[in-house]
Amino acid sequence: MPTTEPIRFACACGSVRGEVSRTSSPGGTHIICHCKYCRAGELWCGQPDPDPEGVAIFQTTADRVRFTEGQDHVGAFRLTKQGPYRWYATCCKAPLFNTTSSPGVPFAGMIAARAADPSDLGPVKMHVFRTQPDGTSKAGLGIGAVAKLMTGLAAARLSGRWKNTPFFDAATRKPLATPAMVGPDDSDGLYPPRR
Ligand SMILES: [Zn+2]
Ligand SMILES: [Zn+2]
Repeated sequence: MPTTEPIRFACACGSVRGEVSRTSSPGGTHIICHCKYCRAGELWCGQPDPDPEGVAIFQTTADRVRFTEGQDHVGAFRLTKQGPYRWYATCCKAPLFNTTSSPGVPFAGMIAARAADPSDLGPVKMHVFRTQPDGTSKAGLGIGAVAKLMTGLAAARLSGRWKNTPFFDAATRKPLATPAMVGPDDSDGLYPPRR
């Protein structure tokens, strides 16, 4: 039975809480990312090393995300100059979301571990950036999933719904927290060899 109940999420200590709204279940795409940056992000946040399982992410659009408590505890960092903004809870350092650095591209990926009920997210649909047997990695995003995601982004953009993002001030287009640049080289040990 499809549900339109929002997906509830919280940081580890419960100070930051919020919801991801949806018009049908699951309302986003549950993926597992194996890229070195998602791993580095988890490590910077003091989380257990996600390698080799990868980081489970629920891909949705930013206009669906709403913080209901503790938004003043939401901080941001980035690992590279071009990379996404990585949002986390400053109270307990729990990673929360990844977004693009532009509010006009309203992609938001919720760290799946934040969901109050993981079954809300549906089954894992794909693995991206998984290391191939030859040691290279490829995005591996199915064309159908890309099309679906782009359709969602385009819809959010065309309708002006992107302005509802909680991550940016729609008028100034500035992020609500200034992302700190962390670990630009491996000095923080954020990029250990694959396990
Ligand atoms: Zn990644
Ligand atoms: Zn917290």
